Amino acid sequence: MSKASRARARESADILIVNAEELVTLAGSSQKPRTGKQMNELEIVNDGALAIREGRIVAVGKTREITKTFRGEYVVSAKGKTVLPGFVDPHTHLIFAGSREDEFQMRVEGASYMEILNSGGGVLKTARETGRTRVEKLVELGLERLDAMLAHGTTTVEAKSGYGLTTEDELKILEASKRLNQLHCVNVVPTFLGAHVVPVEFRNNMDEYIDTVVEETITRVARLGLAEFCDVFCERGTFNVEQTKRVLAAGKKHGLKPKIHADQLSMLGGAEIAAGIGAVSAEHLNFSSPEGIRAMAEKGVIAVLLPAATFSLMMNRYPDARFIIDCGAPVALGTDFNANCWVQNQQLVVAMACHFMRMTPAEAVTAATINAAHAVCRADDLGSLEVGKRADVAIFNAPNHKFLGYSTGVNLVEKMLKNGRLVIDREKQDEPVFLSKTE
Ligand SMILES: [Zn+2]
Repeated sequence: MSKASRARARESADILIVNAEELVTLAGSSQKPRTGKQMNELEIVNDGALAIREGRIVAVGKTREITKTFRGEYVVSAKGKTVLPGFVDPHTHLIFAGSREDEFQMRVEGASYMEILNSGGGVLKTARETGRTRVEKLVELGLERLDAMLAHGTTTVEAKSGYGLTTEDELKILEASKRLNQLHCVNVVPTFLGAHVVPVEFRNNMDEYIDTVVEETITRVARLGLAEFCDVFCERGTFNVEQTKRVLAAGKKHGLKPKIHADQLSMLGGAEIAAGIGAVSAEHLNFSSPEGIRAMAEKGVIAVLLPAATFSLMMNRYPDARFIIDCGAPVALGTDFNANCWVQNQQLVVAMACHFMRMTPAEAVTAATINAAHAVCRADDLGSLEVGKRADVAIFNAPNHKFLGYSTGVNLVEKMLKNGRLVIDREKQDEPVFLSKTE
């Protein structure tokens, strides 16, 4: 058979990615997140290739096999590179106005998070600024942030409300999430976090605020279909165990799946609540009890760990990832991007997980991809490179996956594909001016 007729006999694909040094597929965990030792198993194909058609992955394998079967309209060489599923960021507070670098300086100089919050700063300051900001402006800010996240390898982002503190402002934030999901190629998964902090006017009557959240806000959020998950910041100084349970139960009644900010600054039993209510995930977990973690493992509650939050708060106590993994709870990683933790880069979070929590690079990669997809209930569609899944693909300028934990401070993304379309190509960028040759 001539070369031309052999080419005709091959199946057509829109894009082939070929010759990846490591094609990290994370195959085989779409039904259940990876736990324990499985978190180290990445199902890597060396000299790997992918075929993509109509936004979906149609074949995965060795380059030699894929190129024998498929003819690509475009062929992308990943020689010397590492190819991963696009990161899923399962915990962000994407939408808010303003920033808090002044408070950052106060914290550097010794003020604590709770001191700042109690003096009307922190989340309360961001809530005031967000309340004054129109939805169009929030969308504009969100688009910039999604651009930054995509540029660093993330293709799906969970976004929590919570800077509203009134029903109308919470609806405004969730409306901004909905528009962002329509406008930007990055998928935005909305979570209702009405119980984030206590508004000043309810300081002496927190239960009354919870009544509003439970009786009014959740009902309207659910009726408008503006959120998939319901989250609560369970902490000393914010919402106690009883209030947390009330909000999560009300959310569940309206079809919002429970998540919880648990044991971030103190041990309040957040992990136990998550296990008790059958939450999808419990997030932070810096101070969780061993019993709480074991209960989570038993119920399959995902531990979403957020080392960048610990780093931003300049705390010494990171979540005990080794213990959590050993107990068999599935671990995911997120940025916790918010006005207090200006981190949009999941590569940095992977590196922090290795440096500060002694997760192996493979565990951290698992946690930021397939397990993070489970944490937002999207693992049937995202989080691994498998036939049928959405072609959200990150090509890193790294010789292997370990380099992702090892390297910090430099963006390793070379190309990003979202829904099978090349949306970032840093190879195509013009050379910096200082490198241009002078005659
Ligand atoms: Zn958070």
